[in-house]
Amino acid sequence: MNFAHIQKNVQQILASLPPQVSLVAAGKTRSPEELQAVIEAGVRIIGHNYVQEAEHSVEALGRDAIRWHCIGHLQRNKVKRAVQLFDEIETVDSLRLAQALDRACAEAGKQMPILIEVNSGQEEAKTGIVPEDVMELAQALSNFENLRVEGLMTLGRFSADPDVCRPCFRKTRALFDSLAAARIPGVAMKHLSMGMSDSYQVAIEEGATRVRIGTRLFGPRL
Ligand SMILES: *Cc1c(COP(=O)(O)O)cnc(C)c1O
Repeated sequence: MNFAHIQKNVQQILASLPPQVSLVAAGKTRSPEELQAVIEAGVRIIGHNYVQEAEHSVEALGRDAIRWHCIGHLQRNKVKRAVQLFDEIETVDSLRLAQALDRACAEAGKQMPILIEVNSGQEEAKTGIVPEDVMELAQALSNFENLRVEGLMTLGRFSADPDVCRPCFRKTRALFDSLAAARIPGVAMKHLSMGMSDSYQVAIEEGATRVRIGTRLFGPRL
């Protein structure tokens, strides 16, 4: 897809989003030139799944105009580099990962906004914490000095069929509401990151405040 086409896609999607919803461009496999195109069209957040790919992109594009989010499963042996690179980690799904992140943040002198990744499509996804355990994890995370819990993220079941993806989004939204109501000190429910190219409209109907979109901006991944 050419850059003009990518930019038109970005503009169309940005214009269609309700004001409370922000766009994360899912950047995996995309070249720095493609990422530059979406930035010029108005994207302010780029999500990456892999530390190495993010390093490559940040090196090419810098950090002035853009915030870099980790949206892929983060291995504990990569947290040091992740903390240096990313402005937010959307995929915290265990206490052990949080402990490693908190330690790396302390060393780097950095406060890191994080989202808890919920495994809302349980039979399919391998990442994320099961819904039953989210409250307990949030309570534990509230004690970390260098992490700030700001919301939830989920993949849900991959489908364009609302009957399949909607229940996952609805379940995550219900958790988001109960965490907000629990008023855990140091835990804010500001961001609900859910919905991808095939499902973002349904996710917005179910309360998403952030959608992560790749294919609809850049075209199919090769
Ligand atoms: C790739 C990816 C997306 C975007 O997927 P598309 O279907 O290409 O829009 C969103 N979230 C995560 C975590 C991803 O890895």
